[in-house]
Amino acid sequence: MKKYIVAFDAGTTSCRALLVDSEAQVLDIQQKEFTQHYPQAAWVEHDAVEIWNTQYSVFEDLLSKNNIDPAEIFCIGITNQRETTVVWDRKTGEPVYNAIVWQDRRTSAYCDEIKEAGFDSYIHENTGLITDAYFSGTKLRWILNNVEGARAKAEDGDILFGTVDSWLIYKMTNGRSHVTDFTNASRTLMYNIRTQQWDKKILDFLDIPKTILPLVKNSSDDFGTFEYKGLNIPITGVAGDQQAALFGQACFTKGMAKNTYGTGCFLLMHIGDSFVQSQNGLLTTLCCNADGTAAYALEGSVFIAGAAIQWLRDGLKILPKASDSEAIAQEVEEDELVVVPAFVGLGAPYWDSKARGAIFGLTRDSSEKQLIKATLDSLAYQTRDVLDVMEKDAQTQMDILKVDGGAAANNYLMQFQSDILQAKVERPANIESTAMGAVYLAGMQLNLWTAEKILENRRIEKTFTPLMTEDAKEEKYRRWQKAVARTKDWI
Ligand code: ADP
Repeated sequence: MKKYIVAFDAGTTSCRALLVDSEAQVLDIQQKEFTQHYPQAAWVEHDAVEIWNTQYSVFEDLLSKNNIDPAEIFCIGITNQRETTVVWDRKTGEPVYNAIVWQDRRTSAYCDEIKEAGFDSYIHENTGLITDAYFSGTKLRWILNNVEGARAKAEDGDILFGTVDSWLIYKMTNGRSHVTDFTNASRTLMYNIRTQQWDKKILDFLDIPKTILPLVKNSSDDFGTFEYKGLNIPITGVAGDQQAALFGQACFTKGMAKNTYGTGCFLLMHIGDSFVQSQNGLLTTLCCNADGTAAYALEGSVFIAGAAIQWLRDGLKILPKASDSEAIAQEVEEDELVVVPAFVGLGAPYWDSKARGAIFGLTRDSSEKQLIKATLDSLAYQTRDVLDVMEKDAQTQMDILKVDGGAAANNYLMQFQSDILQAKVERPANIESTAMGAVYLAGMQLNLWTAEKILENRRIEKTFTPLMTEDAKEEKYRRWQKAVARTKDWI
């Protein structure tokens, strides 16, 4: 009688619910946006109750629009925006403050203090993270220090902390489960990914009582049950969005990597069972093995990827639609131009906040079309920059890059990516990698499927293989690096 698995995908701007059958086919998706609050410059907040209500309502929409009896649901898997910090009252279940979103920079000055105290190296060695306002720990500390009564309540064990997964599970279980999974824990700045425990030294430094932290479980595990209309629906899979996408792309073993081409790029590489500390400014984080147990991953991001295509479309207005860039790039024969879209500085492996974007190689023949092609090329070059240092840090060779996200639909870009990496680029038929990760993890816990079955079921829509010669590729890449060097230290 049970037929379906439901994924909750609680993102940064919207909540989604996906209906999936036992063959892992997506049958329907419901989605609703929620409010972004910007109380001050560089502050970003969400109303945690609104997140819960939005998630609940897309779940109900999914049931009603598809005529589903909730008794037909095997289990629920959750994936979520990472690092966003929620603190709520243990008894009433009411948040004591808005959720502080990962983008929020209010604790930057405090992060500088941590660095001045020299404690950042301990944090890097044990959490795999760079000391930055992005992660949950300093956001949690801010709430305890700035919300009236919060610290006293924390000392008395009357309030609880969680990332968005923990918060949703607390609501779904009517306060019975205060839990998270290791992928979400590994983004808090408080979780020791070597010992896989909350780190006492860091908690002492940040002055955070351990009693308010959730119990950390495997990503495929028993997280409690969703008490819905007299039913108890098991919650059996949880992972942060990027790790869920890595799992959803079936990157189960060392050397497998995925890249999500959205506004920016998010690259993750599974590096096996040994912790590696990056020498190039990448993050080390926890991801999942095929059986849902913890493994290590390196993570790097490109700040401006699809956003550069948006700039062509909305800023320069030389592109009607983002997808038009594919045909235009394919038309252009020569590629004299190099665009470095360092609009907000350069990330890994250059780490130069003073760099700014530039166009190189302009002549009287230069055209808008060449500019469009060169901008697309920059997404592929930036991805190679990050992957090269990942391979170096991990001392592992990547064979296939699995891709998803909006700009992965661009065939010109994917072919050029394959050329410039001299590696295969694989685009799956099901582009819902993130939600599928949550679904796979949840289903595995109930033995609905195994890693072998996931691999068997996986449909590849298109594989791109390198067509360019090694020499041509290296010449282009050298020219890119030369261009990057000239954008550095600009402002
Ligand atoms: P996000 O989740 O970050 O909002 P998406 O995964 O929805 O991003 O991807 C949208 C981004 O990809 C936009 O920045 C857009 O400019 C770019 N994009 C979408 N389609 C294409 C395409 N066919 N070719 C190149 N870029 C594209």
